[in-house]
Amino acid sequence: MSAPGSFKRVALIGFGLIGGSIARAARLQGLADEIVTTARSEKTRARVRELGVVDRVVESNVEAVRDADLVILCIPVGACGAVAAEIGPHLKPGAIVSDVGSVKGAVVREMAPHIPAGVHFVPAHPVAGTEHSGPDSGFAELFINRWCILTPPEGVAAEATEKLRAFWAGLGAKVEIMTPDHHDLVLAITSHLPHLIAYTIVGTADELAQVTESEVIKFSAGGFRDFTRIAASDPTMWRDVFLTNKEAVLEMLGTFTEDLSKLTRAIRRGDGEALFDHFTRTRAIRRGIVEIGQDSAAPDFGRPHEALKKS
Ligand code: NAP
Repeated sequence: MSAPGSFKRVALIGFGLIGGSIARAARLQGLADEIVTTARSEKTRARVRELGVVDRVVESNVEAVRDADLVILCIPVGACGAVAAEIGPHLKPGAIVSDVGSVKGAVVREMAPHIPAGVHFVPAHPVAGTEHSGPDSGFAELFINRWCILTPPEGVAAEATEKLRAFWAGLGAKVEIMTPDHHDLVLAITSHLPHLIAYTIVGTADELAQVTESEVIKFSAGGFRDFTRIAASDPTMWRDVFLTNKEAVLEMLGTFTEDLSKLTRAIRRGDGEALFDHFTRTRAIRRGIVEIGQDSAAPDFGRPHEALKKS
């Protein structure tokens, strides 16, 4: 008997961190009788063939979706509309089409018009990732205990949403359903703004005149290096996130700027109480994240520390 949430043929368009992780986890969990994939470049397609983690690598998006029961676009948000237009006429009646984009409102607007009647469109966003990309970066454990948010448009068959929910649960994720607009607002504060801040601070340090670049790198353990991990994320992906989730990011940026002004004022006035209260509140948020299992309590993110050698 097949596993709950399993499909006969799964087509993954795009094989980077997310597509590669879905393929590896789905294979391990027996969630697809056959996994077919494609990528934009011959270089990536050739590498996926070498990796041997899917059943078939094909040359085009149209070929990939032929007869597929589940099609997942694992490509940058900005490319989803054009790819949906390309594959729309070739989708199998009754198939489920999904994506993994970090922004949902724009993806729904761009993709929905190209999905034919009789095909179920259930957008998704696994809230899991690393700063790495490309066909070698994926791993089967990426989604374990992480959230995957589904944003089915009104009128989508409940069975299709349930089938995709079971698929993501099979990959190890916890699944939540919300509207695309609410998703974009929540992710603007939890993911998009933190990336913008990291991109800013790493850029600012790079442009400082009084502190040399080698000093910034040498003393980075003071906090800077934790921002550099986020700021090393894929430039194409993040360009598309800010272009397509503009309103929500600008709204959160406005609130952030006001809060930054409050802290600036507290520093200027020497208001230790305001600073202490603020930092106490934020410390509790970190504890909350650890308590619900979304991060480890290990000091310094569990980085290994060398033992002191006796001289
Ligand atoms: P990635 O590692 O860079 O892989 C992207 C894949 O998309 C590659 O196979 C690439 O093919 C293909 N591709 C790129 N541009 C394309 C285009 N214009 N048309 C068709 N295919 C194209 O990216 P990723 O990190 O897996 O991200 C993919 C999606 O997942 C994005 O929408 C992102 O928002 C979402 N997401 C990412 C994370 C994360 O942490 N990275 C987390 C959650 C969701 P080539 O290799 O041949 O160029």
